[in-house]
Amino acid sequence: MLTAEPDTRSVVAYVASLDLMKISSLLPSNKNRSALVHTLARALGLFSREFSSKRTIALIQPQSAGFTDLNTYHTKEYLDFVLDPSNVDTGDEASKTEFGLEDDCPLFPGVGDYVRLVGGASLTAVKTLRQPRCELAICWDGGRHHAQKSHAAGFCYVADCTLALMALRRLMQPTPTGGLPRKPRTMYLDLDLHFSDGVSHAFHHTSATSQQLLTLSIHHAAPGFYPPSPLAALPTPDSDPFTLSLPLCPGASSRTFARAWQCVERVHAVFDPDYVVVQCGVDGLAGDPCAIFNWSLGPEPGSLGWCIARVVNDWRGKKLLLGGGGYDSPNAARAWAYLTSVALGHPLSLDTVIPDHAHFPLYAPSFVLDVPAGNMQDQNSDAYLCTVEAAFDAAAAAIGERMAK
Ligand SMILES: [Zn+2]
Repeated sequence: MLTAEPDTRSVVAYVASLDLMKISSLLPSNKNRSALVHTLARALGLFSREFSSKRTIALIQPQSAGFTDLNTYHTKEYLDFVLDPSNVDTGDEASKTEFGLEDDCPLFPGVGDYVRLVGGASLTAVKTLRQPRCELAICWDGGRHHAQKSHAAGFCYVADCTLALMALRRLMQPTPTGGLPRKPRTMYLDLDLHFSDGVSHAFHHTSATSQQLLTLSIHHAAPGFYPPSPLAALPTPDSDPFTLSLPLCPGASSRTFARAWQCVERVHAVFDPDYVVVQCGVDGLAGDPCAIFNWSLGPEPGSLGWCIARVVNDWRGKKLLLGGGGYDSPNAARAWAYLTSVALGHPLSLDTVIPDHAHFPLYAPSFVLDVPAGNMQDQNSDAYLCTVEAAFDAAAAAIGERMAK
């Protein structure tokens, strides 16, 4: 008699729901993007349990975050204001200014539910990672890396990355020798075009003393480019080696990212994290309206897909992939669908034709999955990249010294 073999594949938790998709699609900076992302993933068959023989997907319904969950990081005053639906129409201007709820972060109908559900989605992903078979979780609606403790900023109303990192920090790790469980080490890697100011500022100073959390943001930085921050520069001998930045010049291509990645690997090897959180903002991809970098989706060394494959296939420990920026919605949907297939251990071909589905016409004119590089010149010179490598060699050595103490 035949008996069914138990499914021993590791699980990729994909956090999504109709409610999350609807509320996330209201985000003023990314109207309807969430709907494109999840419908393309479904149309490509990524939600089928048979998609990959290596890992299997589990669709996880996000739980809405309660006030107490959000208050773990955000101030009571900010939450009282942003969660109160009456403020959308009648909120006073002074408070809107105080809490950053103006200009690029206007209050919109449903903003309170948005904050609760997007914050809750990333926290649900963390909770799912506690299950032994779940090695990897994905929350493309998360990754709001500019939100601050007491104000919204840069299209970000809820600091879900920071909340997720704080939740991961509370999980205990068993020790191989069977001794008392220890607190985990977590690495936050940010691949968005913009500096992860909200997250880096949240843990600056604290990480240096606890050595439990390291943030590393690869981004563009220049005078006048958002967001301004002294932490967005290359590490120096005096800077905190647990708060790292790798700024790149305009036109950064996969060739440049392949060299930058060696710096990431050096830091990862010495820090040896138990958890890795990657903010996969896709506004550095070619074709984004930001038009600063010329990064390609894959599959060559240094491409976004190649970098994520290194994280999910070569690094030990559990991983959480979050979304972020990305202002060409069909390209963001292409990129995150492709990264989901990489996370499942079965990368789709970039020649894959977009299947016929509700949003099909938006994928014109190519109607394929790829987001190829354009012809922008890469301004990252060999001399500059040598400077970057030297700065990161020194930072990696400093991390090693601190951790040996
Ligand atoms: Zn961005």
